[in-house]
Amino acid sequence: MSKTTRRGLLLGTGAALGGWATRAYYTDPVPVGERLGMPQIDPMILNDASELSATRVAKHITVTDRFDQSSITALRTELKEAQAARRPVIASAARHSMGGQSIARAGTTCTMAHEWMELDRTAMTYRTGAGTRWSTIIARLDAEGLSPAVMQSNNDFGVAATYSVNAHGWPVPFGPMGATVRSIQIMLADGQLVTASRRDNADIFFAAMGGYGLIGIITEMEVAMVPNTRLEPSYRMVAPLNFGPEFAQTIKATPDMQMAYGRMDISKDRFLEEAMMITYRPTADQSDVPQAPSSGWLSRRARDVFRAQLGSDIAKHGRWWFEAGLGPWIGSGETTRNTLLNEPVITLDDRDPDRTDILHEYFISPENFGAFIAACRQIIPSSYQELLNITLRYVQPDAESWLSYAQTERIAAVMLFSQEKSVRAEEDAKRMTQALIDAAIRLGGTYYLPYRLHARPDQIVAGYPGLRPFAAKKRAIDPGLLFRNALWDQYISKV
Ligand SMILES: Cc1cc2nc3c(=O)[nH]c(=O)nc-3n(C[C@H](O)[C@H](O)[C@H](O)COP(=O)(O)OP(=O)(O)OC[C@H]3O[C@@H](n4cnc5c(N)ncnc54)[C@H](O)[C@@H]3O)c2cc1C
Repeated sequence: MSKTTRRGLLLGTGAALGGWATRAYYTDPVPVGERLGMPQIDPMILNDASELSATRVAKHITVTDRFDQSSITALRTELKEAQAARRPVIASAARHSMGGQSIARAGTTCTMAHEWMELDRTAMTYRTGAGTRWSTIIARLDAEGLSPAVMQSNNDFGVAATYSVNAHGWPVPFGPMGATVRSIQIMLADGQLVTASRRDNADIFFAAMGGYGLIGIITEMEVAMVPNTRLEPSYRMVAPLNFGPEFAQTIKATPDMQMAYGRMDISKDRFLEEAMMITYRPTADQSDVPQAPSSGWLSRRARDVFRAQLGSDIAKHGRWWFEAGLGPWIGSGETTRNTLLNEPVITLDDRDPDRTDILHEYFISPENFGAFIAACRQIIPSSYQELLNITLRYVQPDAESWLSYAQTERIAAVMLFSQEKSVRAEEDAKRMTQALIDAAIRLGGTYYLPYRLHARPDQIVAGYPGLRPFAAKKRAIDPGLLFRNALWDQYISKV
């Protein structure tokens, strides 16, 4: 078997298994840097959406076809080989996590890109390949008058990856996405392919939900869907320090509400001094729900307004005027649930080789949210970080996943920063992140794990009471510690 090139390695594997490569189960992967338009220097160095996680891997496998008996056997063989070589393995999808959560250092990274779906209208669920992207899911459901129950705010991510970070979105009134998953098929470190659900292998189901790939490789899933609907927006200015309770109460008092989010003014001279709540309810007429237009059409045009904010308070004022003043006045009009969900990340792309966009997220109870905003007013402006956006979401409690970030209901503050790609900027970002996490934890809240690994070790322990039990469960299910990533190496392995 040739070891000189990645393609040789993969074809070699295929040849050894007979017919493996010819079914294009493994294909040449498209490195993230290349997708982002960056020159790819070494195909064995993988990066993620942070563009700051360059990591050398020993092997990169891309899965493109639905698993059948022979590809399951082949995956088992990969796991055995990695175990024998004492190499870690991790699954990944779009690698939009930002701290090496989707990459196995000096190990085997499996990019899951097998996209298929089967609908069950009676159960209102669909079965799907773990690598299926939300853009594919929305397109298929939209054509049938259906819609995902919960997903993130963008459509580029993989469905099993979404379950593996237990992402939340802005559909209400839901908890994280794991709450809408009925069952998974997962390959464990010993090569067993098991079905896990609330009824069967529930410990595996809840550990893998928000388990960052550390329990095994999910091959397929059964997920809930809901009808697609025509929606119309309402806008309301809210006092920022009162946003948490008002947002939660409004959502609870409006049972037919389908989508909801908040925004804040981030201009430097009026930092977090205004907030707006945007909610969507079904229109009276639900006949002939139109299909979602090709994704991101509107946002691609809004991108320029968004990017102009970098270093310009005038542009930040302009955007806030557009969003909080003009937008509600002219009204963005009727839309559909799928149109709102069908938004690609590309609309945010900075196209600047010297800077990168980094997300942060903090989860605080509605009643303590005002105190968190007050802390943000102190911490962020003196941090040298360029805040481009804050979106606020409502998250129902999650009492299921071991690494739950919402033991009680939470307001999620999603912050997008533009950061210089330099050691100094990383240090500034780390200082600011630790101060924000301290504030969140003081208020009984926590932070989100798929982003930069800037928290101190004591902060992840304090913010995730389920961390130690999760680590013990992982060690029980995977005693040889086959499934590892940077999150494991940096934090969880040490508890
Ligand atoms: C622009 C942007 C917007 C975002 N918006 C939101 C949001 O609205 N809400 C929210 O909650 N999050 C949001 N996120 C975070 C996002 O949900 C996570 O980063 C998510 O992991 C991205 O999916 P991915 O396909 O890129 O996963 P990857 O980064 O590829 O993987 C993430 C994790 O899932 C694991 N994994 C992937 N596939 C499998 C599998 N088949 N089996 C087992 N484990 C697997 C990986 O090991 C890794 O630990 C956003 C991120 C970005 C960049």
